Order: sequence, then structure tokens, then C-alpha cells
Amino acid sequence: MKKIILVALAALTFVACNKQPQQVTPSTEDFPYMVEQFYDLGILRYRVPDFEQLTLQQKTLVYYLSEAALWGRDILTDQNGRYNLRVRRICETVYENYPGDKTGEDWQKFVLYLKRVWFSNGIHHHYSEDKFLPECSREWFAEACRQSNLKEEDYAPLLDVIFDPTVLPKKVCQDDGVDLLLSSACNYYEGVTQAEAEAYYAAHKDNSPEPLWIGLNSKLVKDSQGNVIERTYKAEEGGLYAAALQKVVENLRKALPYAETDQQKLVIQKLIDYNLTGNLQTFNEYAIAWVKDLDSRVDFINGFTEVYGDPLGVTGAWESLVNYKNLAATERTQKLSANAQWFEDHSTTDPRYKKAECKGISAKVITAAILAGDCYPSTPIGINLPNANWIRKSYGSKSVTIQNLMEAYNEAALGNGFNEEFMLSEAELDYSRRYSALTGDVQVDLHECLGHGSGQLMPGVTKDNLREHGSTLEEARADLFSLYYIADPKLVELGILPDHEAYKAEYYEQMMNGALTQLVRVEPGKNLEEAHMRNRALIANWVLAHANADKPEVAIIRRDGKHYMQINDYEGLRALYGQLLAIVQEVVSTGDYARAKQLVEDYAVRVDPDIHAEMLSRYKPLNIPPYKGFVNPVYTLVTDKDGHITDVQIDYSEGYAEQHLRYSRDYSVLPDIND
Ligand code: ZN
Repeated sequence: MKKIILVALAALTFVACNKQPQQVTPSTEDFPYMVEQFYDLGILRYRVPDFEQLTLQQKTLVYYLSEAALWGRDILTDQNGRYNLRVRRICETVYENYPGDKTGEDWQKFVLYLKRVWFSNGIHHHYSEDKFLPECSREWFAEACRQSNLKEEDYAPLLDVIFDPTVLPKKVCQDDGVDLLLSSACNYYEGVTQAEAEAYYAAHKDNSPEPLWIGLNSKLVKDSQGNVIERTYKAEEGGLYAAALQKVVENLRKALPYAETDQQKLVIQKLIDYNLTGNLQTFNEYAIAWVKDLDSRVDFINGFTEVYGDPLGVTGAWESLVNYKNLAATERTQKLSANAQWFEDHSTTDPRYKKAECKGISAKVITAAILAGDCYPSTPIGINLPNANWIRKSYGSKSVTIQNLMEAYNEAALGNGFNEEFMLSEAELDYSRRYSALTGDVQVDLHECLGHGSGQLMPGVTKDNLREHGSTLEEARADLFSLYYIADPKLVELGILPDHEAYKAEYYEQMMNGALTQLVRVEPGKNLEEAHMRNRALIANWVLAHANADKPEVAIIRRDGKHYMQINDYEGLRALYGQLLAIVQEVVSTGDYARAKQLVEDYAVRVDPDIHAEMLSRYKPLNIPPYKGFVNPVYTLVTDKDGHITDVQIDYSEGYAEQHLRYSRDYSVLPDIND
């Protein structure tokens, strides 16, 4: 479980539970970024700038790749939990067919639940991974199902799944000392214990130089004799999720003639073959072809990719993102890539853990055109793929920053009062106003296109050594590389930052977020669970603990009964980041599980209950949704009377419920339960 996606939110805008759905006024006159806000979620729109300037071929390619993307939605929903599709469909039937009162409190509470199910692609919170419950009563819901002409045998068995907090309480359990598979509700294993799954993966591990990623595209189950076997996700007869994958393949075939280059044609063809057969050798060929496809303006991800949703970090969650290069902004990341070796050589890490030759880090800034599967509605703002270390080492990787989504976050966050409440003084507010839109982008660029690509593992060490702490340490490594270098004069020299003050905006926000304000996203009494949150806490808390005792570079102070982050010495803070970078790189390079575990336990998990309560109480009145996600634009093919495609039109007006109901109607072929 390595190299990967950054799920960081651009702005520090994060929990209070405004439990009533509410419409929100447009954030700007000309483009209403905010669609609606409910519970802890804000739904945004994103602009797709310059779409009209693409060629007809490029637009058509985007169109068919988008169709291929949307067909994967149900796969991810099912991966997230065995009953998710059935729950969603039953709720949608009630939503559309309920003949009773649609103004009452129970109805409102039910609608809120369905909106949350859509957002999470299932019944567990997309970020905390805890099951959430409807606030309407079980009796009201059962009666509403009945009145909506649902059969009792269809909805009755689901009532415990939906309403009983002890049934399937956690999507991905990371607790120490329990069977991670039996205690997780995600649907990557069935009737298989953690020990059995680990034994299976160990027995099938491919130790060749270009190994197959065993388990990437399969579910582990038991056959009738009780042997552990893989059910492979593939479009061919007998494949798990075959019906949906056939639709993906059908649209990839339609996209094929519009590929921009021969290399891109190869990519799409390999992906079609892989989807059909589930053959992991074909997947490797696809991934290598994809890394080499650098000349096309349009690009895409489509398939089983990130492994955060699997407690063992093996199987990929289905996701898709269709995008095209933002030409002007890409210049910035190309400067970083061109200097990758310089950054590697000058980092604080031990020379043994540095890459002697930084190869093929291609970085670009992209415009997202469609988000799907694990990228929808909640979305990463930077992505670095492929995940297989040996491909990254031998063929390189692609790293992207998604500019139009970051822009939507920033635009929607303007004037929400968050910084005014939590920042120490006018000086920090001023840094933030002047620089943070830019430094946020640059931080992601550094994290994705240099951080994840930096360093090397010692012989014999693999991504598996750090087990459940692998993601946290990997994200910490990429963030620390980024934080160390954002303060380097080299960035000013390269023209990426305007002056040597700019990085202070990012330093302050990272420290404030990691140690204090990200707690607003955690429920009272809970610890930190999610890998990116743990990573940010690990960095901030380690730095605070190692600051100079007499003259601290950085400290949490108390003023008028409130806690604030105070940075006294920005250069000194940079040195601390550099120290921790060297440590984390060593832990990752040597696969030192015990030390990784110690770091996580000491700095990344526990929450001070008093500070936590204070953060929540200061945050609540701001009424800011802590999590955000998106609705997609709608693309429509325009054809002439002979059926030739003449244009692809884009429309931004679709609402949140409207979009999900349409997706459920038009892109849904899987059975309720997939075995
Ligand atoms: Zn990352």
C-alpha cells in the first residue's frame, strides 16, 4: 500500500454537523460553486475551463471515456460493502415512489440518509469509515418501504444492516489485535480470516523482477471445500462485476478510434484486454504503456487502483478520472520535474536511501472532466500513479495536480470565517491571503511529483513491510519532502514562488491543521484513523515534541482560553521537518515495522479530548461543511442528420439528487448482491 493519491483538501475547511439539509446561496454570481450543504458535507460544482477549445476528436474522446467512467459506479459501491447496492436501490425506490407526506420530519431525515449513502457510495462515512444511521425511525422506514410497493422479503432483511449500530459498524478496521478482515465491513473478503488471507497472499507472492500484483483485482472467498480462492473482477463469463465491466469495455472500444496518439491507442487496447480477462500481466503492460503516454492532451484513469479501502492494502477500489492537460499551469510542474535529481540529491535523507537516478517523473497540471467511482463525489486533488514500485522505478510515474477542483474548493471557501477564528494573528491571516492559493497548489505539486517519487527501498524491502502503517508513513514521507522544499530558495529561483515569505503561509496552515484544526473532522471520543489525517498529525505532533525546550521554534499557545498554533522560527521549523524526513525515509526504506508503529502510536492516533472539544465548539458556529464533494457536468453528443458527431456540449446545471438518480437509472447493471 504505497505511492498514491493525495486526498488532502485544499483549504482548511472542515465538521460541525449541520444536520438539516439546506440550500446555499451561490458563491459567486457567474458560477455557483456551492450546490448544496447537508450534514457534514458540502456539494460543489467544478468548472471545466477550455473544454470548448479542445478539438472535436479530443472532446469525443473525453465523452466516451466519461461514459466508461460512469459505468464503474456500482462496482465501487459494492466493494465498499456487500449490502450497499441493495440499500441504495431500496432507498431510491422509496425516494421516487413513496406516496405519503414528503414534507414531514421523518421524510427529511430519510432523504438526508439517502444523500449520505450517495456521497459515501455506501452506508459508511467516506472518511471516518464508521457506519452512519438514518435519523428517521426504523418503523417509519419499514412502513415507507411497504407503501412504496417494495416487497417485505427485499427490505426486511436490510433493516438491521441500516439501523443496528452493532451490525457492520466499520468499513475498514485498523485496530490493533483484532482480525482486520472479520471486523471490516468492506467487501474484498468473504468468510476469510486475516491469517488465511495473509497466508494466501504470501503463498502466491510473485518475486520476479516485474511482479504481478496478486489480489489487485479480485475478492478472496472460500470454495465449497473451504479453500481460499480468488474471484477475479473481469468482463468475461464468470467474472465478478462482469456486467458493469462489459459496459466499461464497450465504451472504451468507442473511445479507441478517437485516441490522440498510437501510444494512447495501445493504452486503451490493453485496458480493454485487461478488463475482459483480468489478466495481471496485461495490467502491467497497460500500466507501462500508460506511463509512456505523455504526448496526449487527454488522459484518464479507469480501473482498480487505490488500496486504502482494503484493510490489507492489496485490492484496488474502482475509480476513474478523465482529464486533459492544463497547458499554462503544467509549466510549473515541469520545472520541478526537470530538477528532480537536484531535489533528490539535496534532501536530508541518508544517501543510501536516495535514488541515484530520478527517472521519468512526469508531472502535469490537469483539468478534471469527469469524476467516478472512488473519485466521486469525494475527490483527490493530486494523483500519482501507477502504484507498483517496480514500474515507478523502471518506467517512471505520472503525477498530476487537479487545478480546477482546487479552484472550486478555494472559491467555495472564500469568506467562511475559518482562518479568522483559528489563526493566531493578522500576520498569519495576511500570509494566507497573499499566498495560500498558490502555496497550496505548490505543496501538492511537490508532494505528488517529487515526494512520492523520491527515495528508494533497500533490497528485499517491499511495500508490504509496514503493513497497516504503510499508507500513513508513505504520505508522511511525501508531505515532508514537500514541506522541506517549499521553503527552499530554489523554488524562488525557479520562479515557482514569488519570494521567500510565501512558504510561511503553507507552514502555518500545515501545523495548525495537523495538530489542531483537523480535529474538527473527528467525532468526540474517536481517535484518528484515516491515513492522511494520521500523517498530518504525525508530522505536526512530532515537530512540536521535538522543538527546542527553551526557545521553541513552534508551539501551541493559549490565549483568552483558546489554543493557537504559534510559529516563532520558520527556518527552525524547516530544519525539524528535514530531521523527520530523514527518519521517515529510513523507516520506509528499511521497512522497519516496529519503528513505524511507534511513530504512529506516539504522534498520529491519540487526540487530546479537551483540545478536541474546544476545536469542535469553535468550529460549529461557522457552519462550514468539513467534507466536500462534487457533482459532475453533463456531456451530450451533438450529431448531424447522418449521425456524425459534430460537437460535445457541456452543461453544469444538474443537481445533486438529480445526478445520482440519473446515474442509478442509466448506469446500473449489477445485481443487488454480487457473489
Ligand atoms: Zn500522497
